[in-house]
Amino acid sequence: MRTLDDLDVKGRRVLVRADLNVPLDGETITDDGRIRASLPTIQALAGSGAKVIVCAHLGRPKGQVKPEFSLRPVARRLGELLGQDVVFAPDVAGDGARAAVEGLQEGQVALLENLRFEPGETAKDDAERRAFAERLAGLADLYVGDGFGAVHRKHASVYDVPALLPHAAGGLVTAEVEVLRKLTDDTERPYVVVLGGAKVSDKLGVIANLLTSVDRLLIGGGMAYTFLKAQGHEVGGSLLQEDQLDQVRGFLSEAAERGVDLVLPVDVLAATHFAADAGYDVVPATEIPADRQGLDIGPRTRELFASKLADARTVFWNGPMGVFEFDEFARGTAAVAEALIASDAFTVVGGGDSAAAVRRLGLPEDGFSHISTGGGASLEYLEGKTLPGLAALED
Ligand code: ADP
Ligand code: MG
Repeated sequence: MRTLDDLDVKGRRVLVRADLNVPLDGETITDDGRIRASLPTIQALAGSGAKVIVCAHLGRPKGQVKPEFSLRPVARRLGELLGQDVVFAPDVAGDGARAAVEGLQEGQVALLENLRFEPGETAKDDAERRAFAERLAGLADLYVGDGFGAVHRKHASVYDVPALLPHAAGGLVTAEVEVLRKLTDDTERPYVVVLGGAKVSDKLGVIANLLTSVDRLLIGGGMAYTFLKAQGHEVGGSLLQEDQLDQVRGFLSEAAERGVDLVLPVDVLAATHFAADAGYDVVPATEIPADRQGLDIGPRTRELFASKLADARTVFWNGPMGVFEFDEFARGTAAVAEALIASDAFTVVGGGDSAAAVRRLGLPEDGFSHISTGGGASLEYLEGKTLPGLAALED
């Protein structure tokens, strides 16, 4: 993969595909982690005298112009963090974008409006996507792929534009790929993976692949209940994906055959209902009352998981252990995060909500070897899939 060092950018218009998909509350950015992660590449390009044109998506406006998905607040925050004005183009690749680009001096930065306002960005139809990619590519001389959180998408700005312009990978993408390689090639053992989050179905592919490579797989969060049910236990009103039970039974037997230590919760916080102030009891994971739902792993599981992490040399963690958005049910997630921080293993956190949980809990981000900006992308990489946005940068 070519890197920024391989491009001569001075005086050239460089289109940077970044991942600026931040959570918003109205116009307030509640977590600017992804904007910060995109700064080094933008700064390097501007510092080398490029005319920097940043493009990115926000949410899922589904090909329509929807003001609540405008990147305007992101342009403002990006400008504050860069310490220089960011010109905001009021459209993606129309007159507004062209005017913004024409006005750029060397070292200046523009941000285009939300890519997903254009139906061509996410179109399944190759010709439709390519037509939009050509309009976008027409704004620039060079392309830099740096939106790691979107590299698993076959979208115009990720996959088609690099075929139309001389291109390179940005610093964020090269850093992320380097980390993920350590999880797939010559991984130091014990290699322990902790998975949580809401849905098993999101993570079936990665579980199947991880069972061939990990020493231990710890499962918490909402997805643990489908595993407990597959073992024959009642889970009350806990999150459950009935349609995944057969698949999960297959995972349980495959883990046993391969000698993978698959570790499930031994106790849970069984809440009366789904609310921040819900009452709860600590119950064994095998005895969840019918009228209760598990919203976090329990204290014995916190210790169990920490002990399974203590001697790890490599750890990948994706997905919170409970409903961490409610303080009462954030302790399981905090315990896993703390175990990783205490460990001197190579520790990687993947997943938007997991990274947000680390920040929300006020834990030091530098306590981990790496926090990935791309949950879906890092999972698909670990699944062994070819990621369109990385393949497009290869040649
Ligand atoms: P990530 O973004 O890190 O990959 P996911 O999106 O898979 O994580 O899952 C995050 C969500 O899972 C959080 O909103 C959290 O509240 C939810 N969750 C975790 N444990 C439970 C549970 N026991 N019951 C319901 N939801 C849960
Ligand atoms: Mg998520």
